[in-house]
Amino acid sequence: MQIPAQLNPTERILMGPGPSMVPARILQALGSPTLGHLDPQYIGYMDETCAMLREVFQTKNLLTFPVSGTGMAGMETIASNLIEHGDEAIVCINGVFGLRMRDMIERCGATVHAVEIPWGESFTDAQIATAVAAHPQSKLLTIVHAETSTGALQSLPGISKIVHDAGMLFVVDAVTSLAGHELKVDEWKIDAIFSGTQKCLSCPPGLSPVSFSPAALEAMSARKTKVQSWYLDVSMLRNYYTGSGGRAYHHTAPVNMIYALREALRIVLEEGLEARIERHRIKHLELRAGLEALGLTYIPQNSLHSLNCVRVPEGIDEAAVRRKLLADYSIEIGAGLGVFAGKAWRIGLMGHTATTRNIQTLLAALKDCLAT
Ligand SMILES: *Cc1c(COP(=O)(O)O)cnc(C)c1O
Repeated sequence: MQIPAQLNPTERILMGPGPSMVPARILQALGSPTLGHLDPQYIGYMDETCAMLREVFQTKNLLTFPVSGTGMAGMETIASNLIEHGDEAIVCINGVFGLRMRDMIERCGATVHAVEIPWGESFTDAQIATAVAAHPQSKLLTIVHAETSTGALQSLPGISKIVHDAGMLFVVDAVTSLAGHELKVDEWKIDAIFSGTQKCLSCPPGLSPVSFSPAALEAMSARKTKVQSWYLDVSMLRNYYTGSGGRAYHHTAPVNMIYALREALRIVLEEGLEARIERHRIKHLELRAGLEALGLTYIPQNSLHSLNCVRVPEGIDEAAVRRKLLADYSIEIGAGLGVFAGKAWRIGLMGHTATTRNIQTLLAALKDCLAT
């Protein structure tokens, strides 16, 4: 065969729903010499990575580690380890990721009680209280903190109390909120949570940080059956990540991705978690003012800072605008998903992407694309 040309990817301004832009320091870390995954030097790096993940999740949970795989692997880890055949679960659905959670939990053999509200809206405590009262046998309730398909932010503390008062576990999808929005795993009593590296952590895609509370661990030890997924079985993975019972080989850790995540977390802590979250808020307001000045309107009432979902104006070919942004300005924004397909754009301001330079470049480019 003719060997393909050397890789030469363009440096895009990544303002879609993820991946976000990756700082050079992280790409350099990714390119460091590969170590064996049982090498004590590597284990040291990995332990530091898990310790920094606890800081960023704001938790003392020992079982906090990066699952090998993207955000969906984190979702599957939580579903498959906490759910057994015959369980009942409440799944809150207001976008794509709630739908996926329902599918996963059903595949694990549970009866799902779905609580659905229109896409773009966030749940009220009263809606959750009603659902919990209607299905008191449920083992857990799942909800999306930052629904990337609609741009809606979900408030969690009130819901957590309702769920715990009913004796259920509280499960949260924090893929687009970790390190971009306020998120306090211990204070908000979240029992199982998962995230991803390529959103507000600004690391390449490939890992899914997860954390399990002591109550979630108890639920896992009380299982009567083995976890159906071998690869994602936490009872085997925890030996490797927490050192309990020695660092046994389970699967080869994605060593260089751990380097990248370690560097990403160092950058988060150097900036300061609070300062980073505040930067996401300020930059969101800057983008929002500019988009509204162009006549665009937001879909969600309670918008995420990390993901801005706006309506496509009447008479505009939304795909043509995205094509022009990419071709002429090297800027990527996201299309609408699900019920918003063809009707919305999703503009990410995640991590390293959330800068005035990127915002003002996009606004100028978008103005040009909307005029033609
Ligand atoms: C991106 C995302 C996921 C899935 O993550 P992948 O890395 O694409 O597997 C899950 N939930 C939410 C809210 C997301 O934004």
